[in-house]
Amino acid sequence: MAILIVADHDNHTLQAATFSVLTAASEIAKHISDTELHLLIIGNECQSVIAMAQGITGLSKILVADHQIHQYPLAENIAPLIFSLVQEQGHCNDENREFDKVEYSHIITSAGTTGKDYQPRVAALLDVAQISDIISVESADTFKRPIYAGKAIATVQSSDAIKVLTVRSSAFTAASLTTELLAIESQVPVAALAAQADSGKSAFIKAELTQSSRPELTTAKIVISGGRGMQNTDNFELLYTLADQLHAAVGASRAAVDAGFVANDLQIGQTGKIVAPDLYIAVGISGAIQHIAGIAGSKVIVAINNDPDAPIFDVADYCLVADLFEVLPELTAVLKVKG
Ligand code: FAD
Repeated sequence: MAILIVADHDNHTLQAATFSVLTAASEIAKHISDTELHLLIIGNECQSVIAMAQGITGLSKILVADHQIHQYPLAENIAPLIFSLVQEQGHCNDENREFDKVEYSHIITSAGTTGKDYQPRVAALLDVAQISDIISVESADTFKRPIYAGKAIATVQSSDAIKVLTVRSSAFTAASLTTELLAIESQVPVAALAAQADSGKSAFIKAELTQSSRPELTTAKIVISGGRGMQNTDNFELLYTLADQLHAAVGASRAAVDAGFVANDLQIGQTGKIVAPDLYIAVGISGAIQHIAGIAGSKVIVAINNDPDAPIFDVADYCLVADLFEVLPELTAVLKVKG
């Protein structure tokens, strides 16, 4: 038996979410006797990702589908690949064509944009249910997940033979990378998967990503978000200046994204990113349930809003009823003095 973990990466580095998924997979493994953790890397020219993965303790095998068609993570190509791997319940080593029989009990990845795209297709191909966005592992077949935008937590038990899961990465601490292993030859065997034909059902056109030197939104320790109250794109500069002083990431409400103030990869909430920083500062955000769904795991929430009845104050630890256009420059000036 084995648990198949599908890696998040950009063909250069493993993304932080994968380390949280590894923790979730290890927790599942504790409930199954004699199971292994296999990491599946799907990409193109992703040798540095493989090298990084070899520094992960606890893995029994790294499976690699390194092919041009996987340069960009298209669900229409990824889902059949995972399906065939699991359906055959095995994989072959490219060089000697030996076939290793493996039975997968779980297929697990992060509930990021890519995982949310292909995992439902994998589940449909296997004719099993998908269990989305798990926040805890109760046993090998029972998991907790938020429903109604986080207003309630459901405990879900699956009787399917194979569990197809996505993991809320902010709910699991990241497994550590044993960096010393990077320098020496890893013992984790790497198996190359046979090349696969392009499904032809989708094509990559372009990616427009926000270029930022600030921390990544989902892993940042401090996040400052702006809402419709910011009024326009230029005013977001006030947040960027403050964020740079605090080494924080910048996020936004959906209203701010829809109004075109910022790019949609900054959106936080039910249909955006889920964050769980040590400190979350909501500026000019009313606190709609769909936004709260993305920030509920934050350790401390600070809200700045000029409406004393704004719902964000119901969930905030520190509430500042004030005009953001007065507060932000003052805060920035104070932090500058304190250095
Ligand atoms: P508003 O609700 O308009 O609030 C603006 C706030 O700014 C107000 O509270 C106001 O008092 C304050 N303000 C104005 N001027 C100032 C000032 N000068 N100083 C201080 N405060 C000021 N939303 C998300 O954020 N993320 C999601 O993922 C998301 N997903 C959704 C999914 C669905 C299916 C639906 C239906 C909605 C979703 N929404 C989501 C939208 C959500 O319902 C709200 O509409 C949105 O969060 C509101 O954004 P906001 O708080 O910026 O704007």
